[in-house]
Amino acid sequence: MKAIRGATTVEKDRAENIKESVKDLLLTIKNENGLTEEDVICIMFSNTSDIRSFYPAKAAREVGFFNCALYSSLEPDICGSLKKCIRVMVLAETDNPPKHVYLNGAVNLRKDLSKILNIAIDGPAGSGKSTISKIIAQKLDMLYLDTGAMYRAVALACVRGNVDYNNSSAVKKQLDAINVSVKYENGTQKTLLNGEDVSDKIRTPDISMLASTVSAHECVRLSMVNLQREIAANNSCVLDGRDIGSNVLPDAEFKFFLTASAEVRAERRKKENDAKGINQSICEVLCEIKQRDEQDKTRKIAPLVKAADAIEIDTSNMAIDEVASFILAKIQEKI
Ligand code: C5P
Repeated sequence: MKAIRGATTVEKDRAENIKESVKDLLLTIKNENGLTEEDVICIMFSNTSDIRSFYPAKAAREVGFFNCALYSSLEPDICGSLKKCIRVMVLAETDNPPKHVYLNGAVNLRKDLSKILNIAIDGPAGSGKSTISKIIAQKLDMLYLDTGAMYRAVALACVRGNVDYNNSSAVKKQLDAINVSVKYENGTQKTLLNGEDVSDKIRTPDISMLASTVSAHECVRLSMVNLQREIAANNSCVLDGRDIGSNVLPDAEFKFFLTASAEVRAERRKKENDAKGINQSICEVLCEIKQRDEQDKTRKIAPLVKAADAIEIDTSNMAIDEVASFILAKIQEKI
């Protein structure tokens, strides 16, 4: 279930004005969030005390919300607050992140929800990016976009097509023949290759190394970066990767760069591998991590690098919660 917020104002305290404004607000919320009447569980309204001519909640029935529960309340008179303002909170069953709606000069009290916000979290393998990014995205009700998964899907396509992944024209030919996309199920990213959900198949050590190799080709980067930018332009999201802050979204509102010693990162990856039943010694994991770091840092196009304006966090001796709290505090300082 999601809570979708919205607000509008009216010019005059007249029944017609209030009704039309609220109808417009509710229909916009419904359309922007792709809701049906059945999805909506309840709608809560509050209005400033200068609205007296009409119960805003009554407008909900007029736009077809017949079955959901309605609740109305009056806001206290607060000096300097917006005049003739009606706020709503719609509780609805939806998997999509909520799109909050503010009309007629009504302003959002949470600035992080009022416009599209992008948070870039870059760093090498095992630095904690994906775990942390998921937590931040969940706390702020944003999408989490795992950009590495896209390069992994291209690598898998190359394996399946028996493509020489060092040969850029062969990789380009394969890239032109495939479709990589993402979708979200209950807020979780699914990575699709030609419509097939390959989210689990791309999580092997072989694919990790191959993803690093194919991601160095210009054609692959151009194509994946376009997709990432398109998603980021339409959704508030936390993106994790190698070049988000430095290349994909140089204007992202927040940029973090996570690091940790190669040994700590190898230990973390080994634990993950063990849990998945992937059998690799700590030496093998460490060796792969170092090789991948080297490849990612030294490639010609958009290498792994900290953006000049990114906040660097060494996570070697930090607990996950500590890193997440630090990042959230930095975000909250600014919004
Ligand atoms: O993050 P993950 O380990 O899934 O990434 C796999 C590989 O994809 C990385 O080693 C890197 O070479 C590449 N990648 C990239 N740019 C990104 C994300 C991942 O080049 N934004």
